[in-house]
Amino acid sequence: MPAKPKLGQNFLNDAQAVQRIVTALGDCSYATVVEIGPGRGVLTHALAPRAGNLIAIELDQQLASQLRAEFSSESLTVVNQDVLEFDFSAVPVEEGKRLVVVGNLPYYITSPILLKLAASHTALDRAVLMLQREVADRVAAGPGSRDYGLLSVTVQMYGPVERLFTLPPGAFSPPPDVHSTVVRWRFAPRFHSLGLDETGFLPFVRKAFAQKRKTLANNLRAAGIAPEIVVQAMTNAGIEPQSRAEALPIEALAELWKRLQVK
Ligand code: SAM
Repeated sequence: MPAKPKLGQNFLNDAQAVQRIVTALGDCSYATVVEIGPGRGVLTHALAPRAGNLIAIELDQQLASQLRAEFSSESLTVVNQDVLEFDFSAVPVEEGKRLVVVGNLPYYITSPILLKLAASHTALDRAVLMLQREVADRVAAGPGSRDYGLLSVTVQMYGPVERLFTLPPGAFSPPPDVHSTVVRWRFAPRFHSLGLDETGFLPFVRKAFAQKRKTLANNLRAAGIAPEIVVQAMTNAGIEPQSRAEALPIEALAELWKRLQVK
């Protein structure tokens, strides 16, 4: 069956990389593992003997049927669905357990999948994901780096991200146009420990990073916050007036948001 580029079908053909991804997941023998986009099953075959329970979500109906034919229903549950519609919180797990997620992601929906996982964080323990290298760089970047921005802060608010290894296009068939990087994301949301309200802080972060060439103060003013309030809150939070959001660690952004809440 030919690959469908529109569905991001670049199949991994590097056996060593498969082993490294499985190893990066850690012990899954008692866990329910959810694989996003199993495709022709290269990761699925390596995961099935190691996972307590394995669920694979594949949008392509032909590939989903092929997987159902290849695996016994005890070793794999195939869900023929768009992962963006999948309800991670509805997967039955033992009391106190959370899901382990793995996937060589379809790159045309990388950001929506990351946001979906963030929104499902209460059901998730960790994820090992293959992303295009540029996105992995942004997701894992720290303040002051060229790649640090809205995506870095949004993802890292739900837990730390480590870059594990990078693969060239030739590790896939057909080869994508980009290099790919595997990351591990451990879900440990920071909202509570930083004293933040998730629904208030994330929209603020979007405003703070709205325009890269603008200072933080100008972005906040452009978002409708009165200049004197911005200046006062930045001073109280110990942030230099000319700072850009790209230079500030999450803790400083958190402090500023809290100062802006004080009436
Ligand atoms: N895991 C396989 C591998 O490593 O060779 C395939 C990875 S391929 C990069 C991405 C897979 O995601 C394809 O099988 C594609 O059909 C599937 N896919 C694309 N869009 C999807 C979606 N919205 N929901 C679930 N699966 C999707």
